[in-house]
Amino acid sequence: MKVRHDGNGVHFFDRRTGLNILLDEIRVPAILRDSAPRFVSVALTNACDLQCVFCYAPKHGARLDASQVLSWAIELDRGGCLGLGFGGGEPTLHPAFVALCRQISEATELAVSFTTHGHHLTDAMIGDLMGAVHFVRLSMDGI
Ligand code: SF4
Repeated sequence: MKVRHDGNGVHFFDRRTGLNILLDEIRVPAILRDSAPRFVSVALTNACDLQCVFCYAPKHGARLDASQVLSWAIELDRGGCLGLGFGGGEPTLHPAFVALCRQISEATELAVSFTTHGHHLTDAMIGDLMGAVHFVRLSMDGI
């Protein structure tokens, strides 16, 4: 279980079960508080193969370098961050998406999550992500 110290108290978090325990009666001195944000969202790529009419996101193939994202994740983990969430665009279109989730899960204690339209969640991808991703947000904006 990961422990975070911040202005709200002492926060215990288990990424496998989603259990959160906040001991808010404990006042953590400013000098002992973790420096990283509690949760970080990363737009992994601007690419998306849908065209939702309300979407404001640019649709081009720009994407972050996977090794850079891994190094940010390690730094965030050391700084007391509890979770990293991928979005976009459509994060599953990043060519290193599965490998990156696995690497971050193995190298850190972060909860790895992502938001997706779901169209690329094949059985093979779900199998590859098993154990490396801790929760998924599925966007459903129409029938
Ligand atoms: S799935 Fe998301 S990123 Fe893609 S067009 Fe729809 S709202 Fe935009």
